[in-house]
Amino acid sequence: MAIEFGQALEEEQRIVSSALREEDQEAGLRPHFLTEYTGQEKIKDNLRVYIQAARQRGEPLDHVLLYGPPGLGKTTLAGVIANEMGVSIRVTSGPAIEKAGDLAALLTNLNENDVLFIDEIHRLNRAVEEVLYPAMEDYALDIIIGKGPAARSIRLDLPRFTLIGATTRAGQLSSPLRDRFGVHLRLELYTPEELQRIVTRTAGILGVDIVPGGALEIARRSRGTPRIANRILKRVRDFAQVKGSGKVDQATADMALSALEIDRLGLDGVDRRMLESIIVNFRGGPVGLETLAATIGEEAVTLEDVYEPYLLQIGFLNRTPRGRCVTPKAYDHLGIPFHGQLEM
Ligand code: ADP
Repeated sequence: MAIEFGQALEEEQRIVSSALREEDQEAGLRPHFLTEYTGQEKIKDNLRVYIQAARQRGEPLDHVLLYGPPGLGKTTLAGVIANEMGVSIRVTSGPAIEKAGDLAALLTNLNENDVLFIDEIHRLNRAVEEVLYPAMEDYALDIIIGKGPAARSIRLDLPRFTLIGATTRAGQLSSPLRDRFGVHLRLELYTPEELQRIVTRTAGILGVDIVPGGALEIARRSRGTPRIANRILKRVRDFAQVKGSGKVDQATADMALSALEIDRLGLDGVDRRMLESIIVNFRGGPVGLETLAATIGEEAVTLEDVYEPYLLQIGFLNRTPRGRCVTPKAYDHLGIPFHGQLEM
């Protein structure tokens, strides 16, 4: 996940937020192997080839860059890759590596062919990033010893390893860093059918009694995001237990989701406010991202990473060179007549 501090508060309140929260307790829900990892078929097909080839050669997998919105399974996939390679994984994140020395310590502690996973890799600082270049390219660390004219650089060999970087914004990565990843994989939002499979699997792990219609209703309203689907399932389970028979069917799911004010497409109050704001204040757009962010009191990065991907996917929002526009489809969903201009 790549949630900035500023957005944390609002994110906390949203059940459809894709930011990771304490209560999610995801460890037990994570698939361990490619066969359990639902969806992302193209990515899995390619990875199978790369993994098999690397294993046959007895080499580490090439460095992998995973990008896509939060909650789509980047961290999970990194773990799956390590398992499929039969190696260990060390997990850290861009902001957690403060100094070059922190990264050096991580790298020197790896074993041959291990995976180092750096989440939010776009947030690495420059000094740390520079240590990463020779490490990725030559499996080496350049260390400066001494100061002033007497200073000299020595090169330390590292175990051969695979770096897996995850980011919500590939565009923010410096090009020297981006170019050092041999494999670039872009994760897509999941279809309702894929999410239905994920919800059914999670229900099995949690011991929730669920029927296919219940799983599909949750899937349809989870913004294409497994993390949100799993979270909604847990809330629906509470409603089923207290207000229903304990079984999660379509009617219970619908009742629970309505109580949570998540509409039939998975939009919550914040999404609707954002769309309405564009319609009312900017006549449906185009409006620049920064202006829009200021108007609704959100961070521009939050809009771009968390809100927009789904609204773009369902065709409620268009990104044009002049800014964001709300589509007639969104007007229709919100029950606002579309005239191109609106008076409210
Ligand atoms: P990201 O790192 O992209 O923010 P995570 O890897 O933390 O996302 O995934 C969030 C949760 O969603 C995980 O706990 C996992 O259970 C679930 N999940 C993600 N992708 C899949 C998938 N393809 N199949 C099954 N579950 C998934």
